[in-house]
Amino acid sequence: MNKAIQNTKLIAVLLSIIILFLIFYSCTQKGIQEKEEFPKYLFLFIGDGMGFNQMHAAEIIKGASNQKDIGIQKLSFSQFPGTGLMSTFSSNSYITDSAASGTAMASGQKTINGRINLDVTNEIEFTTIAEMAKDREMKVGIISNVSLNHATPASFYAHVTSRWHYYDIAEDMVESGFDFFGGGGIKYPTGRRGLDRDILELAREKGYKVVLKKDDILSLDNEDQDEKVIALNEKLTLKVAMPYRIDTRDDDLSLEDYVDKGIQLLDNDKGFFMMVEGGKIDWAGHDNDAGTLIKEVLDFDRAVQRAVLFHEQHPDETLILVTADHETGGMALGSVYSGYSQSLEVLNGQTISLKKFSDEHIKPYKATKDKEEWNLDDFMPLIKDHLGLIQITEDEKQVLTQKAYEGDEQAQMKLRRALSPREYKEITNAFHDPNLALFGFTLIKILNQKAGISWTSDSHTASLIPVFSLGKGYQRFVGYYDNTELFQRLKNVMGFSTNN
Ligand SMILES: [Zn+2]
Repeated sequence: MNKAIQNTKLIAVLLSIIILFLIFYSCTQKGIQEKEEFPKYLFLFIGDGMGFNQMHAAEIIKGASNQKDIGIQKLSFSQFPGTGLMSTFSSNSYITDSAASGTAMASGQKTINGRINLDVTNEIEFTTIAEMAKDREMKVGIISNVSLNHATPASFYAHVTSRWHYYDIAEDMVESGFDFFGGGGIKYPTGRRGLDRDILELAREKGYKVVLKKDDILSLDNEDQDEKVIALNEKLTLKVAMPYRIDTRDDDLSLEDYVDKGIQLLDNDKGFFMMVEGGKIDWAGHDNDAGTLIKEVLDFDRAVQRAVLFHEQHPDETLILVTADHETGGMALGSVYSGYSQSLEVLNGQTISLKKFSDEHIKPYKATKDKEEWNLDDFMPLIKDHLGLIQITEDEKQVLTQKAYEGDEQAQMKLRRALSPREYKEITNAFHDPNLALFGFTLIKILNQKAGISWTSDSHTASLIPVFSLGKGYQRFVGYYDNTELFQRLKNVMGFSTNN
């Protein structure tokens, strides 16, 4: 063979090898680069039942309480650069429940109301975003202020035919191997009939450190990072949910404390996924209790702020999403009673939730006194102290009206809180009604009317809900999409690959 041809061949072979090497090298580099593009820390905040108006009511009351002029004060998450809209229908209803919507967000699949991470036939099990994170050896934390085996938290670790199978869900929880569960209690920890093994005992067997006291929870530290932890709030209502924020004292543990603790326990080289649910926005919505609800939204916002602080320290590695599973109550900011005026500050006079007012005052009173002895006058001081509604005479009204006209703000507020003769009559009738719940509901209804808020439902609604995003990859969550798409976008941003 000609030497020149031989040389050419040799050069061609060498060139091919170099080119192949370069292609291979650039691919692996790209792989590494892409891997580094994934957010290392992922926060998903779910305000259960938090539609636009729940959120905006909190912004209005903050604005109205802190400044003279009309204006709002945004929440931490409503200032995020990414905003999106999400539809929430389930596979059998335009109005979803928390199980179907939790499944949609956690696994990207529609299912029927009440079901968690199983398809309509009950045969296909969905893999959740939290399980995918765990597969990547990220640490996983699940935080809620309602019970940890309630529908929303369960949607990230459980696969059950019904959200009401609390014990099965709790079993899935201790089987999950997730690193941190914090906040509310466990509903039916020994099964509905109390015949099953204590779930916390099972958890300990599975290697969980179970912490039940405030001081012990606060003293969890970096040394506990190697352990899996279940931290249940010391103060729980009915041993299940943390109390409403409005009903707690400042030194009680709150959702933000659990987020702080979660960050401390979960932070590690491989990153973490943390789901945080503000579960009682929904509960207050079911009760149409706006004053309590707004304080829940503000509490939820404080929890988000803890993640925002973390993001400030790790801006290139952190993604925070804040959204809801559905809207609850059909809350509207305006009513036929208030026309163009609104006075959400009236709600600042409310100091306890309707639930607590009912449990601690109405129910015991009516249970211990004969119907003939019921006297509304016994309740008027409580109504003033706890709900801020007052009774004034005609003379007082005239004086207050004059002062209000002259610009006296206290007088203006007193007038707004004063019960009209029609309202007083309505309360009186409700107080003596055989339907015990009517009294509390009437008080709350009047409070809503005075504030300029109305409700269309005591259930969930089909409203679109907001999605706010901040941090690495936030742009992917801008736009209008379905709740199943939230999962798909999250999966893409995280670079997880599965069949879901
Ligand atoms: Zn609900």
